[in-house]
Amino acid sequence: MATKFLLTFAICRLIVTVGLTVDPMELLRHGVDGQLSLDPSDVKTASLDFGRLSRAEPLAVLHPASAEDIAGLVKAAYESTHGFTVSARGHGHSINGQAQTTHGVVIQMSGSRGKRLVSGKPALPLVYEKEKYIDVWGGELWIDVLRSTLKYGLAPKSWTDYLYLSVGGTLSNAGISGQAFNHGPQISNVHELDVVTGKGELLTCSEEQNTELFRAVLGGLGQFGIITRARISLEPAPQRVRWIRVLYSNFSSFTKDQEYLISLHEQPASKKFDYVEGFVIVDEGLINNWRSSFFSPRNPVKISSLNADGGVLYCLEITKNYDESTADSVDQEVDALLKKLDFLPTSVFTTDLLYVDFLDRVHKAELKLRSKGLWDVPHPWLNLFVPKSRISDFDKGVFKGILGNKTSGPILIYPMNNNKWDHSNSVVTPDEDVFYLVALLRSALDTGDEIHNLDYLSNQNRRVLRFCDEAGIKVKQYLPHYTTQEEWMDHFGDKWGQFYQRKIEFDPKHILATGQRIFRPSFTSSNVAL
Ligand code: FAD
Repeated sequence: MATKFLLTFAICRLIVTVGLTVDPMELLRHGVDGQLSLDPSDVKTASLDFGRLSRAEPLAVLHPASAEDIAGLVKAAYESTHGFTVSARGHGHSINGQAQTTHGVVIQMSGSRGKRLVSGKPALPLVYEKEKYIDVWGGELWIDVLRSTLKYGLAPKSWTDYLYLSVGGTLSNAGISGQAFNHGPQISNVHELDVVTGKGELLTCSEEQNTELFRAVLGGLGQFGIITRARISLEPAPQRVRWIRVLYSNFSSFTKDQEYLISLHEQPASKKFDYVEGFVIVDEGLINNWRSSFFSPRNPVKISSLNADGGVLYCLEITKNYDESTADSVDQEVDALLKKLDFLPTSVFTTDLLYVDFLDRVHKAELKLRSKGLWDVPHPWLNLFVPKSRISDFDKGVFKGILGNKTSGPILIYPMNNNKWDHSNSVVTPDEDVFYLVALLRSALDTGDEIHNLDYLSNQNRRVLRFCDEAGIKVKQYLPHYTTQEEWMDHFGDKWGQFYQRKIEFDPKHILATGQRIFRPSFTSSNVAL
């Protein structure tokens, strides 16, 4: 009763203050057990994201208590005569307002205070020890998924570098890290989903059941439904990690070795690394950037002493997982693999740590940056998938050309095997057996130095994209950001027709995730801001 009163109050305020065009009875008829909030701090949170590049205030924020709350709200939006949009927000770690909306309600999936239930089903998270999978709420953060599974000595197989991201948020993109060459992205490691479609239906889907919805939602940028439950594949959790970094001054030796290491994916665990990543060091400052406290202070590295080709160094980053039963052989296995590589001989940096500390490594950097006020700043990031055949042209044109020693932030680069990606999903990759992630992870700061300036870095992003276009390097944006449907059609290429058909089937009124700017809601005129 109290909830109903609060809801009525919230809706009335919406009508008075912002002129929400939905009939309040439509929302009330479906009812929600959670909280529909107009609290300015909720609205402010939902209007921002990690990118700090765009801001859009929603009409209200829903803290759902259950999947049925979400279904009720989306159904109300779908059936409403005038219409409103609904955007799921995980942890708001998008760069370009992907989880924002001005013309509707944001559903705050992460940190929602509710029971996260569907009536008649057990509460989440739920680990199935024997079957080796976990059922989690769509807004669960990966760090909490890890904590739940470790209690059973289990862990998910495929990760992102940073764990304070929601399950629904990463599954809407792909979810990649150094394990992807071996296990595929996170979207290749999901058995089943519960999804609320744009019509407000709550459906269970998998490869066997509601197959088209399952495939659409994975990598689907939130366009086809809101993930309320995901069943994620697990493996026995290793206890410790041997974490190694080696340096290269020659780009082709670096990529040859990275490609060799990922070609070992079918080998037994003892004959391959568990994680393969790398990064580019275009100037001395980057060597000790926020992602790589690793080298210092005990291992200071001087680019000048390493004879870098064009002033650029490349760092291969690899890990070997182990536990008590394999502790005796880990050194031997690492040495055997390192012997096959062609890095600078004096540049081996090794550390050893708990598995959980390795997986949660970026959070440590986050805490440091937060303490210096350097976390909540604009992040003009650019993430690209670059086909293997053109990675050397990319190196010359971008790392040694456009960026030179005039950029800031970590630059990740690592290859992945395309056959570990399921192309019936919505995600798009370059059309080659191997492609690289190149991630320019920059923070814009007001230091007075041009290279930290937001305009400078944003312009550099545009120059990189223009260079690829002019050089005919067929890159695909990861965590894509476009503003026109033509650009999106180009992004999806041959898959656009399928993407469009799926939209018509699962979100015919274009209510969901309008912050991606792919489809305009059917009830808006062309000049309505999304
Ligand atoms: P949000 O930003 O809240 O939402 C992203 C999109 O997903 C929106 O369109 C939203 O509507 C939709 N969405 C959210 N929840 C749901 C749901 N339950 N159902 C359906 N749609 C939903 N990515 C990697 O792959 N690998 C990395 O290593 C990696 N590292 C990162 C490190 C940092 C510091 C940051 C900021 C980002 C990183 N990312 C990485 C990118 C990240 O995976 C994506 O930005 C992801 O979308 C963020 O998750 P989120 O929960 O914050 O999503």
